Amino acid sequence: MGLYDTLRDYWGYSSFLPQQTEAISEICLNRDVLLLKATGGGKSLCYQILPVHEKKLGIVVSPLISLMKDQVDDLRQKGIRAATINSESTTAEKTATEKALREGRINLLYVSPERFVSGNFIRLLKNIPLSLIAVDEAHCISRWGHDFRPDYRKLRMIKETWPDVPVIAVTATATREVKDDIVRQLNLKDPKVLVGSFNRKNLYYEIRESGNPKGEIIEFLKNHRDESGIIYCFSRKSTEEISQYLQENGFNSLPYHAGLQDNVRKKTQESFVRDETQIICATIAFGMGIDKPDIRFVLHYELPKDIESYYQETGRAGRDGLPGNCILFFNRGDIAKQLWLIDKGDSDRDYKEVQKKKLFALTRFCESPVCRRHAILSYFGEEYGQKNCELCDNCRKENSRVDAKEYARKVMACVSELNGHLGRGKIVQILSGSTVKGMDSLKPRKLKSFGTIVDIPENQLKQWVDELVFQGYLTRSGRRYPLLSLSKEGKTYLNGQKAVPIFLSKPKKKTGGKSRTGQMQDRSKDRYNQSLFSLLRVQRDDIARRAELPKYMIFTDPSLIEMAAFYPRTKDDFLKIKGVGVAKWNSYGDIFTAMISKFCVDNGITTTDGAVAE
Ligand code: ADP
Ligand code: ZN
Repeated sequence: MGLYDTLRDYWGYSSFLPQQTEAISEICLNRDVLLLKATGGGKSLCYQILPVHEKKLGIVVSPLISLMKDQVDDLRQKGIRAATINSESTTAEKTATEKALREGRINLLYVSPERFVSGNFIRLLKNIPLSLIAVDEAHCISRWGHDFRPDYRKLRMIKETWPDVPVIAVTATATREVKDDIVRQLNLKDPKVLVGSFNRKNLYYEIRESGNPKGEIIEFLKNHRDESGIIYCFSRKSTEEISQYLQENGFNSLPYHAGLQDNVRKKTQESFVRDETQIICATIAFGMGIDKPDIRFVLHYELPKDIESYYQETGRAGRDGLPGNCILFFNRGDIAKQLWLIDKGDSDRDYKEVQKKKLFALTRFCESPVCRRHAILSYFGEEYGQKNCELCDNCRKENSRVDAKEYARKVMACVSELNGHLGRGKIVQILSGSTVKGMDSLKPRKLKSFGTIVDIPENQLKQWVDELVFQGYLTRSGRRYPLLSLSKEGKTYLNGQKAVPIFLSKPKKKTGGKSRTGQMQDRSKDRYNQSLFSLLRVQRDDIARRAELPKYMIFTDPSLIEMAAFYPRTKDDFLKIKGVGVAKWNSYGDIFTAMISKFCVDNGITTTDGAVAE
């Protein structure tokens, strides 16, 4: 039996994803591997498949009990002999697992770093041949990473104790410091470093400057009724407030933060993974333990602390490869809150400076008109070949830019007239000829610029001001209440006679409701039978509920979508569905093929192979 048979029989896949073959072949050659790749890139398979194929024990070090449990449950559903020993295992469970280990009946064992390095455990493994040792979430070993775990440092003993067993370390954190640190700390021997792309092709990025984020969140949720999602908030208080607000509006939501009792947090997380809770309003405390592949949206109600965190947090959406929406509600006031938090923190001065720099990089990113994907990837040192990704707000706006030089000139004239004394809000009010808050009502009227742009909504004007800042015509000074002044380039433009075009975003046409769902991704364009998909989904959800397992462990949505596109009615055809291995066929094949057959008869569908009928 070859490796491809194992891939098909257990995982139900017919080919490998990028880097998987390379990682696996290097391990076969007994070489250590460091694999860096985005979340959802298929890293787990790289360390899971060989132990299963060779029927030889593989150890996986993982930072969180919840992660281990989910992975083990998922592997068992695939018919793989997996187990975990952790601080929550009972003595009886431990004894049984240890016995199974000695008898060679386990192929994948998940352990925490502290358990792994204990003397007892090392003795237990002494006489068991190992196929490999995997270190999952390997960035936890580095102080430079975002989830430093001192226990990971002890993993140095792996290479000392098992010098001849290949070690594979995997992480989705891309920075150079972290990468070097992993190799050094784990003492990897001439490792093969494999770097995959960090691009998440299926995620839509949008930064929205909104005066009413709560209202817009409700609007969004109304259009995404059955979808799982996370709303990240800045403080414990806001997680509770938003969650309450959602509940009052009829949504199924719970808060999650470090201030809640352990058992409450655990229950909340479990109910989310099992789809009993649709939305979690969380602080950054919620995340690493979440392997749920069908999270459909990640919203940021408030500003995250840097681009790394933003990418990490949004990265939790769409692991299964189906569309995910990531919307950040950008409010300048949040910058001050984050600065306050940095200053209050107990890190040293140099580190605080680093944190502030990272925060400003994030705010520049939010204000930038360039492709979000391009900006993120270049921040991580990856070149994104395309100019327009078509799946971020800016790329979609890009096609809707207009030459607004006349307006730009008026804005610059106003800024020049005010000589650097006012900020964006007041400047926009003056240009619009509206009441200027906090100013004597006669004063603005004396300005030449007063009321020179009355045909553009104030929100649009605000955005244009930002775009002019970004394009270098205006500059901002002062952090808390930034004041606007004309840059050198702006002065040259204003004094020049030539009418050089200035492209600014097209003003939105006023159309009744404010819904932006048109910009969201629409799954219906995929060719599969929606009615059959819904039927199969109900069946799957029902099985999951009764088995007390997350839905995706029965069948993932992509598997159901394939069933609804190809109508498999025989064992052979059913096994061709992506994600369906022999164990899934044995457990659920009959029920699902019977449902599909009945659906085909009822609807007069006669397609047999490979065809999609709607
Ligand atoms: P990571 O650990 O890199 O975040 P996962 O291992 O969770 O990624 O895999 C992400 C998704 O890709 C999962 O749904 C997984 O089943 C799927 N996947 C992994 N390998 C393959 C493959 N060879 N073919 C198709 N899908 C795959
Ligand atoms: Zn883009």
